[in-house]
Amino acid sequence: MLAQELIARKRDGAELGSEYLRQFLIDYGSGQVLDYQMSAFLMAVLFNGMSPAELSTLTRSIIESGERLDFRSDGGPPAVDKHSTGGVGDKVSLILAPLLAEYGLRVPMMSGRGLGHTGGTVDKLESIPGFRTDLDLDDFQAVLADVGCAMIRQTPAIAPLDGRLYALRDVTATVPSIPLISASIVSKKVAEGIEALVLDVKYGSGAFMRDPDRAVLLAETLVDLAESEGVRASALLTSMEQPLGRTVGNALEVREAVECLRGEGPADLREVTLALAAECVTAAVPGATTAEVCSGLEAMLDDGRALARFAHLVERQGGDPDVTERSGLLPEAPLRVTWESPADGFVTRADAYEIGVAAVELGAGRRRIEDEVDPAVGLELFARLGDPVQRGQPVAEIHARSADAAESMVRRLGGAFRFGEAPPEEAPLIWRRVPEGQTASGTRNP
Ligand code: URA
Repeated sequence: MLAQELIARKRDGAELGSEYLRQFLIDYGSGQVLDYQMSAFLMAVLFNGMSPAELSTLTRSIIESGERLDFRSDGGPPAVDKHSTGGVGDKVSLILAPLLAEYGLRVPMMSGRGLGHTGGTVDKLESIPGFRTDLDLDDFQAVLADVGCAMIRQTPAIAPLDGRLYALRDVTATVPSIPLISASIVSKKVAEGIEALVLDVKYGSGAFMRDPDRAVLLAETLVDLAESEGVRASALLTSMEQPLGRTVGNALEVREAVECLRGEGPADLREVTLALAAECVTAAVPGATTAEVCSGLEAMLDDGRALARFAHLVERQGGDPDVTERSGLLPEAPLRVTWESPADGFVTRADAYEIGVAAVELGAGRRRIEDEVDPAVGLELFARLGDPVQRGQPVAEIHARSADAAESMVRRLGGAFRFGEAPPEEAPLIWRRVPEGQTASGTRNP
């Protein structure tokens, strides 16, 4: 079938036969279908969606475009991974991977860089002096065997078709499509060779799926697709109405992750991390009960074992493990400016999207794909939604490279925060589970 015929069928809402769709994707990989044709196809998918059979063909074609690891049949501990749909201040992976490794699981984690207003695990890790995220697959597997977890950036060896499709989607406004996001995420995770996957699907102002109902649909699609590819999967829907934790910005977030690994740090970050980690363990270890798992995980945070595991990981990936003891070894911005509450009252808005964009503008994220991030800059937040504040009380600290950058942040923060006479009704931090069930923090689906 000619590429334009296939695009026209998708445009007109017909279901594509699996062989035609597969060939179209292969032809794109080999350069016979061109970027402008693929862009038109992606836009047709964005408007018309995909049938389960089409989604499965797309996912398999992405998997088959590269190598596929297999940790399921080598007799080692269960291999699991967690994937977040993207958030602001979300440093959960940095805590969860060593925590699960300490628990006895394997975590072969491949992560992304920051995207849009959201941060990326790879950028955060690279703020640790010397840390390498560009290991090849042999080194990745050697670190995994040694430490129990390994954390690298996407390699062209795994699911290369996703890399090309994603870059095209990024510049053709075709990212927020449930089937395209699902195929992109699940294909990479299946190719990692894991047996269980836990998805952290964000909802709220700072999420790619702001609308809670769309976020639930995304979670259901991701879980069904992963299961149909033989990976046990579940999802937690967690709030991204305000940033997770108190920091946004790469080195600042590493510092906060280390605090959490030491049994300290903000309560919301610890709660989300423990809930996702407990999901991973109960998915991977038959018969494990959530209560037992949670108390085991908490003990590992509180007695320093998880932190020691993180230090080992940092060392094995070329970084300076002393950052776990001396946070001053992480890059620090030359300028710190405090932003104060302009009014008495309660924090009624701490908009995660606005704060994420502010962090990008400071240099913690990228305006263009080729930009370097500044590891040192970012924001520290002292007040959360619903907190009482007094006029003049510090609400945030801006870590900036220059006085001009700090000055423009002051204006931005004025738009991100609102103060009112009564505390707002807060979205639940952990809202629901897919499939339905109880989470480690006791949340049950409404
Ligand atoms: N993350 C991915 O890996 N792919 C998407 O399409 C969106 C978020």
